[in-house]
Amino acid sequence: MNKTMLQGFNWFTSGDGQFYNRVSDYAWTLKDLGFTGIWLPPAFKGAAGGYDVGYGTYDLYDLGEFDQKGTVRTKNGTKEEYLKCIWVLKEAGIKVYADVVLNHKGGADYKELFKAVRVNPDNRLEEIEAPKDIEGFTGFNFPNRKGKYSEFVWNFNHFSGTDYDDITKESGIYKILGDNKSWSQGVSQEKGNYDYLMFADINHDHPDVKEELYRWADWYIQETRVDGFRLDAVKHINDYFVRDFVKYLQQKYEGFYVFAEYWSANTGSKDNYLYQTDYEFDLFDVKLHYNFYEASLQGEHFDLRTIFDNSLMINHPFHAVTFVDNHDSQPDQALSSWVEDWFKPLAYAMILMHKNGFPCVFAGDYFGIEGEHPQPGKKDTIDKLLYCRKNFAYGDQDDYFINSNCIGWVRQGDNEYPHPSATLFSNKEDSMISMYLGEHQANKTYSDYTGHHLAKVIINEAGYGDFLVHGQSVSIWIEDGINIK
Ligand code: CA
Repeated sequence: MNKTMLQGFNWFTSGDGQFYNRVSDYAWTLKDLGFTGIWLPPAFKGAAGGYDVGYGTYDLYDLGEFDQKGTVRTKNGTKEEYLKCIWVLKEAGIKVYADVVLNHKGGADYKELFKAVRVNPDNRLEEIEAPKDIEGFTGFNFPNRKGKYSEFVWNFNHFSGTDYDDITKESGIYKILGDNKSWSQGVSQEKGNYDYLMFADINHDHPDVKEELYRWADWYIQETRVDGFRLDAVKHINDYFVRDFVKYLQQKYEGFYVFAEYWSANTGSKDNYLYQTDYEFDLFDVKLHYNFYEASLQGEHFDLRTIFDNSLMINHPFHAVTFVDNHDSQPDQALSSWVEDWFKPLAYAMILMHKNGFPCVFAGDYFGIEGEHPQPGKKDTIDKLLYCRKNFAYGDQDDYFINSNCIGWVRQGDNEYPHPSATLFSNKEDSMISMYLGEHQANKTYSDYTGHHLAKVIINEAGYGDFLVHGQSVSIWIEDGINIK
């Protein structure tokens, strides 16, 4: 069966602590809908305690077990509920991918005095002050965990940079100085060197750090039994560290799946990153997301024939996790680039019916988003697309990119899933494409499963059908009367 993942959360997912319980209750439904995997939010305690979405890592070993940062549970629940949620999902046949944030740590337990130099935020290779002593928040000893699972204590040697000096009370980017110490190589070259993102930046070149993070990963996988990792912010982490870390995990845990967030729409930097990391893991198709975003803004002026141009799913089809939006691109978030509403059904059909990529459906699109900028859920539409993916998106793909406002393709089916489908997209007006399904489909009647178009299409003796799509819409044509789940 085709693989399909759900990103189970958005930035404003309720922080009532019942998230894991709700996912547990939903596990078998996810399975029936055609999901094969779920990406859960970071499970460890963040600097903002029960309010932390999970990306402000404080203690990697506190999965909602210790009274730290003002709470035992995380935003999403307790460790016990997390472990039960994973167990239930796995019982239902859903793979569980944990979000892993190894770039930085926030919410230090105490400050330390050390030498640092302030750098230009726009060019981190440029020092803008003389080196000096600063007091930075880099001491982590997790007093309420009391050394359970790991006795490792983090100090300033384990970090490469921080964002605040408590002596001068000034914020900025401070590079921490030490023997042979600098920003990591093998990170994005944006801003000169993009090692530093936020909080206290972990120094992955330090051998003790490396050892501790490997030990932590073993503990985490054995404790939780997750099936894979989603690695956060890898463009800010030494690529050789990530490569070796993933190799280690994949050699040790059979079938362990890893995908990573490298937020860049630049094709060359993605090519280079995959090469540098030996094609060990998959990356989000950020370029495709931006193509969707542009297409949704430009309407009929966007040339649909270019919708997949320079995307990972075309250039590296076996290493692309395709998505429409996520918790960072949603309105008001750091990388806000929200695909317009009218285009969402087209974009989802594009990732779910295409032969390339591992599609990821965003909970914010599926269930909707609450909060200051609420967004409607598109469950009914996406459910239909999931059904089509589950049953009718197999075998060879024949593209019909006929003009700038209308494209489509046929999936021919395969031995196990023999039923073909014809998918059409229009960003302007009602359109038609004559597509070939094969003589074996002659005289059969096809309908649009999405319900967007109500016509019937009869396949002619030569095996062609004149398939239709409304303006600014998508249609997926399948044979009438096929009884499958
Ligand atoms: Ca970093």
